[in-house]
Amino acid sequence: MAVVETRRLTKVFKRGNVGAVVNVDLETREGEFLVLLGPSGSGKTTLLRMIAGLEDPTSGEILIGGKVVNDLSPRERRIAMVFQSYALYPHLTVFNNIVFPLKAQGVDRAQRQKQAEWAASLLGIGHLFSRKPRELSGGERQRVAVARAIVREPSVFLLDEPLSNLDAKLRASAREELEQFQKRIGTTAIYVTHDQVEAMAMGDRVVVMSQGAVRQIGTPADVYDDPADTFVATFLGSPPMNLVPLADVIVGFRPEHFLPAGVAERGGAHLSYRFQISHSEYLGAELILYGTIQGGALHQKKVISRIPSTHSAGLTDGSAHTFAVAESDVKFFDKQTEKRTAPRSLS
Ligand code: ATP
Repeated sequence: MAVVETRRLTKVFKRGNVGAVVNVDLETREGEFLVLLGPSGSGKTTLLRMIAGLEDPTSGEILIGGKVVNDLSPRERRIAMVFQSYALYPHLTVFNNIVFPLKAQGVDRAQRQKQAEWAASLLGIGHLFSRKPRELSGGERQRVAVARAIVREPSVFLLDEPLSNLDAKLRASAREELEQFQKRIGTTAIYVTHDQVEAMAMGDRVVVMSQGAVRQIGTPADVYDDPADTFVATFLGSPPMNLVPLADVIVGFRPEHFLPAGVAERGGAHLSYRFQISHSEYLGAELILYGTIQGGALHQKKVISRIPSTHSAGLTDGSAHTFAVAESDVKFFDKQTEKRTAPRSLS
């Protein structure tokens, strides 16, 4: 049984408006870390808030543990939430912040102590019990917020960009920590982010959203290697997948698959093109080459190549070289629907 399931879940804020969330069907798997990924305004937060019970759906159903919960209050849904602004109560100690939800529920003192110690030990913050939030680092505050969210032993963990207030370095370590923690407690988590690196690194599966709709659900490798449409193809990857419109199809291949002939070629057939480099960006480990294809089916099309800098010799601005892409790395999209379509010959 899915821990969380949504059926045709829809939210329209104003009558006649296009929906913020449109007909979303989702099913989490037991213990899974599911990431909702999409650009700003794609409906991620609205979807999460409906699951939490903080927003009423316009239509559709939400099920938790197989039961429809549309009419249950947030508390009755046994859900833990951590948001971007995980406001801790500034006048309360860490301990009192953590036990706050238990107090509100009328849990007795001994039990509160026990559960707070359990939550704190999972997050390694027991030694901070007597401090006030202002005496904590950003990462410690984030851990206290997580402890407060899990202290009621929720059935599901909902997180909305909980790391976005942390600086880049702390964010990377907090990401790792949170992921490890979720695996340790084994509680199903739904995590909202617009950061593709975070989504790829943390998600067991990623739900890619755009304009309120789900474009694709799959493992990080599924959505990266086998994008269902041009939106997914370009939203993931930096630089994004090269998309070259031809007569009735759009041809796509990733910059890291378009390489100087002879460099790290895969087995199988390749398509070779003359690539005229217009300019390049040196990024340390990698070199990004911008240029134009000369001749063949992709004549005059602008594309990008991303290569290890160790292979940069001779690839100067203005020069032209033979580059190749494995046929198996070339994707085809329908020009009308922009969805994946059958491969065809490009020679
Ligand atoms: P972000 O990454 O910027 O947080 P998001 O993907 O979480 O974006 P939502 O916050 O879910 O997106 O918003 C989806 C759409 O619904 C947006 O067009 C937004 O303007 C609209 N919206 C969200 N909340 C409301 C509201 N309370 N009233 C009216 N429109 C809203």
